[in-house]
Amino acid sequence: MKAILVGGGIGGLTAALALDQIGWDVSVLERAPELGEIGAGVQISPNGIKVLDALGVMPRIEATLFQPDAIEIRHGPTGRKFFHLPMKAVALERWGARYIQIHRADLVDGLAATLRDRQPDALRTGAEVAAYETSSKGAAVTLTTGERCEADLIIGADGIHSVIRDQMLGPDEPVFTGNVAWRAVVPVADLDPDVVPPPSGCVWTGPGKHAVTTRIRGGSVVNFVGVVEQDAWTQEGWSLTGTAAQAHADFGGWNPTLAAIIDAAPTLHRWALFTRPPLPRWSDGAVALLGDAAHPMLPSMAQGAVQAMEDAFVLARELEKGGMISAACERYYAARIDRVTRVQEQSAANLALFHRRGVLSQLQAYAPIWLAGKVAPRLLQRRNDWLYGAELG
Ligand SMILES: Cc1cc2nc3c(=O)[nH]c(=O)nc-3n(C[C@H](O)[C@H](O)[C@H](O)COP(=O)(O)OP(=O)(O)OC[C@H]3O[C@@H](n4cnc5c(N)ncnc54)[C@H](O)[C@@H]3O)c2cc1C
Repeated sequence: MKAILVGGGIGGLTAALALDQIGWDVSVLERAPELGEIGAGVQISPNGIKVLDALGVMPRIEATLFQPDAIEIRHGPTGRKFFHLPMKAVALERWGARYIQIHRADLVDGLAATLRDRQPDALRTGAEVAAYETSSKGAAVTLTTGERCEADLIIGADGIHSVIRDQMLGPDEPVFTGNVAWRAVVPVADLDPDVVPPPSGCVWTGPGKHAVTTRIRGGSVVNFVGVVEQDAWTQEGWSLTGTAAQAHADFGGWNPTLAAIIDAAPTLHRWALFTRPPLPRWSDGAVALLGDAAHPMLPSMAQGAVQAMEDAFVLARELEKGGMISAACERYYAARIDRVTRVQEQSAANLALFHRRGVLSQLQAYAPIWLAGKVAPRLLQRRNDWLYGAELG
């Protein structure tokens, strides 16, 4: 059996490995001239690590990952801690795998290297897909060069602006969430020791905005994301940048740690955050969607890439059962849609929580979880069992 993966991001590469594991030939078509991405970090929770582990990727990324001590929520201006969920000491025992932070490029490299070990010719860059077609024998894609490639299954893992999704469900635009993200990476060595952020996944909250600091490259580099509400987004392009003065205007008066990161950042990228309501289906015959192409979400639960990994794993499990490919794709949607929708909704709810305005409103939100963290920390852990501890089959 042969599958074509449209898109060589985290979702497409994980799906290629999951299909390789069940004995399929795979071909990943990536439009970029090379794999990888502008510098930024991702957090991969235990439910994602279990997929990477099952696919044999962990040895390839072990040297670059970082295990945060905890997940924290702090008051942006003062740094006061509202919430502290130990991770390093708890994740493996409670949810069956570690919680890690990693540079996106290191993760993509690890996935690609694992795939090359198994199918050396599987990856093709500079290959942009324009359209797909289904047939009684399977499906095919046409590249922008006019070249046609056939397979038993096509997977659209081509991100939020997916051409496969557009063709399958009709063209429409993803919805601007009213939030724009700053992104930067800064070596720890470039920061004064007093302002190095904690070795955690730390969310700094405040009215209408929040920031997240994590560590990548074995802990030697700080990753910063700053999400700020904004009425409209009119600029086009994927690698827009902003100035330190603009970032300071957004986070002025906040904890000195954030100001120091902004000052030390070699480049401050800006990225508008889009989403899409749940789709009525993710497949058309032997063509299926996966990852952001199927269910883009706000990053406020750090689950977009992780859910793409879960998709890949579940789709491969359904295909392994045999029978019609189109039926396996439909079972995959049925198995995934409720969980992914819940994660999308919870991500939006988290953002609203982080951006609460007014001290009273913040107190109402954070006092119960602060108290729970003090008197019944297991309660907070249990709230994450459905997500981090899920058995995917
Ligand atoms: C600020 C921010 C922070 C985030 N933090 C986290 C986090 O901590 N944890 C987490 O799990 N998620 C996080 N996410 C979400 C995560 O980045 C995405 O959900 C994830 O990258 C989706 O992977 P994907 O493979 O589906 O899509 P993408 O990463 O978008 O990959 C799609 C690939 O397809 C290629 N492509 C597109 N069109 C074509 C075409 N026509 N032909 C061929 N190739 C094509 C693209 O070049 C790209 O390589 C974050 C997102 C943002 C914006």
